[in-house]
Amino acid sequence: MKSRNDSPAAPPPSHSQNDWPFTHERTITGWGRTRPTRVYVEHPSSIYQLHDLVTTSRGTVTVRGAGRSYGDAAIGRKTIDLTGCATIRSFDPGTGVLVTDAGATLQALHQLTIAEGWGLPVLPGTSHITVGGAIASDVHGKNHAQQGSFGQHLLGLDLMLG
Ligand SMILES: Cc1cc2nc3c(=O)[nH]c(=O)nc-3n(C[C@H](O)[C@H](O)[C@H](O)COP(=O)(O)OP(=O)(O)OC[C@H]3O[C@@H](n4cnc5c(N)ncnc54)[C@H](O)[C@@H]3O)c2cc1C
Repeated sequence: MKSRNDSPAAPPPSHSQNDWPFTHERTITGWGRTRPTRVYVEHPSSIYQLHDLVTTSRGTVTVRGAGRSYGDAAIGRKTIDLTGCATIRSFDPGTGVLVTDAGATLQALHQLTIAEGWGLPVLPGTSHITVGGAIASDVHGKNHAQQGSFGQHLLGLDLMLG
């Protein structure tokens, strides 16, 4: 029987002008650990660095949160790992409204809000996922029938375009 890691890693991409400013090569997988893939991964640590990357890059980029999706949803030749853009901007204990960067994890949100008596309305099987990943996959918890999915509790978002 083959193990999940038996798939050979794809060969490293040969760098072309279209890849710039992506220069850091890494082998990444989804949570299922199938098909390790050698790609370019940049890891901006601020919204400003992210903006520079997105606006100077040519062609398609793939955004990656915590990499907890099972398949290859967060793997692309030019991948931006957003876990460094994780500032929680504000939380109002009066209304429960929270404003955050997309790279913050649900665990980080939970740790902040629970101290004020608020819990996240939707918690999937792992809290080690980012807000961006939760929105993109519109994740659900065990209370799906009562609370719906993550997107139903989203008041708004700012989307950065290339
Ligand atoms: C142990 C375990 C239990 C789970 N339980 C559940 C569950 O109960 N319910 C459920 O619904 N899911 C569940 N999942 C699946 C998981 O919640 C989703 O796959 C989630 O999207 C992973 O988030 P992530 O931050 O790891 O995103 P990634 O896996 O890194 O990315 C997922 C998708 O989101 C996109 N994305 C990420 N960040 C951004 C962004 N900032 N802007 C635009 N696009 C973005 C990526 O391009 C990709 O398409 C579980 C996963 C695991 C490993």
